[in-house]
Amino acid sequence: MAVKQTAGRDSLGEFAPKFAQLNDDVLFGEVWSREDKLSLRDRSLVTVVALMAQGLTDSSFTYHLVSAKNNGITKTEIAEILTHAAFYSGWPKAWAAFRMAKEVWAEESDGSACTEHENSMVFPIGAPNDAFAQYFIGQSYLAPLSTEQVGIHNVTFEPGCRNNWHIHHAKQGGGQILVCVAGRGYYQEEGKPAQELHPGDVVNIPAGVKHWHGAAPDSWFSHLAVEVPGEDCSNEWLEPVTDEVYSKLK
Ligand code: MN
Repeated sequence: MAVKQTAGRDSLGEFAPKFAQLNDDVLFGEVWSREDKLSLRDRSLVTVVALMAQGLTDSSFTYHLVSAKNNGITKTEIAEILTHAAFYSGWPKAWAAFRMAKEVWAEESDGSACTEHENSMVFPIGAPNDAFAQYFIGQSYLAPLSTEQVGIHNVTFEPGCRNNWHIHHAKQGGGQILVCVAGRGYYQEEGKPAQELHPGDVVNIPAGVKHWHGAAPDSWFSHLAVEVPGEDCSNEWLEPVTDEVYSKLK
């Protein structure tokens, strides 16, 4: 498949049409496109090293770092590639390249995974759940969906995030219903094994039951939290779910 490139025509189409055509149609359209001869990943590797060796750490270098990432070069691999190349092309060039690579691969762990998760569900992620952060391990997010009649919030947990053990108290009625909407998570009642949760699962939590809920260690997770109406409702927050308990989950 031909690699589609318009950067040449976009920047220099009028000023240097031949250069633009060679850049877009020959360099990218023909050379980069020979995937049957050398993969895009390998071509990215070669290009990044060649640019770094010349000390060309400008916006075109950022472009090729982003391409390298999109073509499958991981954070660990780019660190290794630049470290290796540093010996052959020069230490200060590696320093300059690392500063830019760090920014390109930094997005991987926070921004994009979060966006990807949000795109996988119909409800918004909402805002960082600062008001309840003290009762969570890890970062959670809260999006109010219904604040009348019955309260419904979409709660999102980053991988490894979970809330403390807690009890929804009520004199009558009350409790909570979880409706799982995206990712993979866990629910556990005290004295019982943890229950793995997937989109579509529904958990009925009666008032007075000590429990926790949260994401799996390696997955984002969102559930709707439905506040079941009752008399004298309150939440009692207890101790955190220790790594010892949590690390037994997969
Ligand atoms: Mn709960």
